[in-house]
Amino acid sequence: MAGKPVVWLGVNPRLDMELKFMGIEIWPIIKLALRKTVGEAAFTNWINPLELRSLDKSKASFVAPTKFIGDWVDRNYGDSIKFEFAKQGLDVDRLSFTVDMHSKRVQSEKPAINSNKDNMKTGSADLPGASLDPRYTFDNFVVGKPNELAHAAARRVAEGGDVSFNPLFLHGGVGLGKTHLMHAIAWEIKKRDPNAKVLYLSAEQFMYRFVQALRFKDTISFKEMFRSVDVLMVDDVQFIAGKSSTQEEFFHTFNALIDQNKQVIISGDRAPVDMEQLEDRIKSRLQWGLVVDVHPTDYELRLGILQSKQETQSRYNSTVEVSPGVLEFMAQRISSNVRVLEGALTRLYAFGSLVGRPVTLEMAQESLSDILRASDRKVTIDEIIRKVTDHYGVNLTDMLSARRTRSIARPRQVAMYLSKKLTSKSLPEIGRRFGKRDHTTVIHAVKKIEELQSVDNQIAKDIEVLRRVLEG
Ligand code: ADP
Ligand code: MG
Repeated sequence: MAGKPVVWLGVNPRLDMELKFMGIEIWPIIKLALRKTVGEAAFTNWINPLELRSLDKSKASFVAPTKFIGDWVDRNYGDSIKFEFAKQGLDVDRLSFTVDMHSKRVQSEKPAINSNKDNMKTGSADLPGASLDPRYTFDNFVVGKPNELAHAAARRVAEGGDVSFNPLFLHGGVGLGKTHLMHAIAWEIKKRDPNAKVLYLSAEQFMYRFVQALRFKDTISFKEMFRSVDVLMVDDVQFIAGKSSTQEEFFHTFNALIDQNKQVIISGDRAPVDMEQLEDRIKSRLQWGLVVDVHPTDYELRLGILQSKQETQSRYNSTVEVSPGVLEFMAQRISSNVRVLEGALTRLYAFGSLVGRPVTLEMAQESLSDILRASDRKVTIDEIIRKVTDHYGVNLTDMLSARRTRSIARPRQVAMYLSKKLTSKSLPEIGRRFGKRDHTTVIHAVKKIEELQSVDNQIAKDIEVLRRVLEG
């Protein structure tokens, strides 16, 4: 889902012409994204000095301060640049770099050759982690009901003191803020203790390091290095599930750190028990600490996030005005992950700066039509009833009947709850669909299931599974 190119050329033929020039307007936005992917140092040395001179059809022409910089960027960051254009819906497949002799930057010194490795460094010590995104802080994290537990746990771990949740395992769907929280923990720990050795990396990087160590017969220093950190964070651990020797090594590293009372923080796309290809002993070990999930966003959280991101956007596009109601509309209609939501807002600002008028609801609908369509895959009450009856093995007639036996009433309440959460149908409407029940019955069902979810693991799990099938 993430990184899927968003196509928005041709949204409206009238705008096609103007959108051609969009690429140049959008360069600052692309730069912002690149800053994140290539790391701060590489960004300063290589990307920032570039000027986008023109963009026609599929070719982007840049002016670089020196030929060396142009060549270097082409070779090392060309694909990232094209990818970021694609994400904005601009199909750039060729990059050209020229040197403008009159450019004021022509005298700039050669950047250090090794700075392309900077994105592999944490900044402190010589740990081979990934760079931390300066924007992923607790300050920039919007807390709502779906993520409050994960946020509280992350805060607690970042405060240090007694290592009480070890490991902390964060899990949840894509784009819900797991990586953001991990970076926030790292920043906070570093703030409190600049000497703390915090190592953050993805499970993929862990594997890569491990394979390198094997190849160069240097597993001893690999082990020493990983075992010498104060805090280890491994993101997207599902990546190593099924990769047996990496799993094995991970397990030993993990145990060694936990035994020394060092904090370990792991994220994954699902709970450890649900990771099929993960060895049982690892699964069970991962559950020793605290396992918390980041739930899918709700309307309030989405709106909160949009409002907070809007402040940031306004700093870059201070001229863009967004009409009242637009953010609410987006929060209502774009219910997929936060990354998509952010992308939509970024696009809206780009659009706003292009047309030079306040962004109205109508314009938002038009410029976001593809995202809205994708997000619109409407779940129907019928579908919910079908999936819930399947899941619990009850039959449809019972489900819609007046029977109040627990084994039927509970699934019915779950179905009502999901109908309220996943469709835009009103309470009376939902009541009618469940054997002509009153809307107060639906309210009761929603409350009941909400309560149960926090005390009854099984129900929480059922809901999560059903949500996933229905929204999938
Ligand atoms: P995950 O690692 O769970 O796939 P990320 O942490 O990469 O998700 O989040 C995706 C994007 O959404 C990031 O840009 C992140 O900053 C943003 N985001 C997610 N949740 C929040 C939140 N609660 N507040 C602010 N930004 C958020
Ligand atoms: Mg992530």
